Amino acid sequence: VIASCLTGCGRCPECLNGEPQICTGGGRLLFGCQAEYYVIPNADINATHVPEGVSDEMAVLASDIMSTGFGAIERAGLKPGDSVAIFAQGPVGLCATAAARAMGAGLIIAVESIPERVAMSQRLGANVVIDPRQKDPVAEIMELTGGRGVDIAVEAVGTQPTFEAATRVIRRGGTVSSVGVYGLLPQVSMPTMVPSFLHRRVVTTLCPSGRDRMDHLLSLARWGNIDLSPLFTHSLSLTEAPRAYQMFRNKEEGVIKIAIRP
Ligand SMILES: [Zn+2]
Repeated sequence: VIASCLTGCGRCPECLNGEPQICTGGGRLLFGCQAEYYVIPNADINATHVPEGVSDEMAVLASDIMSTGFGAIERAGLKPGDSVAIFAQGPVGLCATAAARAMGAGLIIAVESIPERVAMSQRLGANVVIDPRQKDPVAEIMELTGGRGVDIAVEAVGTQPTFEAATRVIRRGGTVSSVGVYGLLPQVSMPTMVPSFLHRRVVTTLCPSGRDRMDHLLSLARWGNIDLSPLFTHSLSLTEAPRAYQMFRNKEEGVIKIAIRP
């Protein structure tokens, strides 16, 4: 089985509306899952069985970042052929790239400088990857779209400059979809004129959760030819967990995701 990283109570208005990730009835982040046993609160709505033929790697992604990455594109309301720019290709940004490709995007432009992540971005569906150390992503994206801007810009970093850049590269009436975690910032702001303050849409997403959500993502893995397991660049044992966290934090050795095995 797998459990959503965000659990819901199943009874509050948000849970009843199918959004246990924003539960107001005592739902919370699930901690302690590297123990031998752990308790899943309200497991009937927060856990699900992993079907035959789905790898451990895909299953664990379906409980967390795959949901966020796909959620970024779903909440943006992508239509077939839409152009999408994605700022940063960390694990969540890469999931958004795969989601945009799977859901029928046209041109996908990613912004990333780490070579391993650039390669993974192209593998998962990006047509163009801009290195922000070499070129100005805003100018490049505008040029690639003939000055019009993209239909959807995904912010997957969680900083003011990238959020602002996302607002500058959407077309008039386009959508900024933010999945960055702005944990250290008291606020983020956006420019009011470029390209059009009045017609811009900004949506945010944090890990749509619950049994039905995970079942849908697992179904994509099982039947929809979606394979995100290449994101696991490293595999370490449970006793090496502190080292794994250090590697991940410092982005050592081209790490994207690390599988920790008992
Ligand atoms: Zn609830």
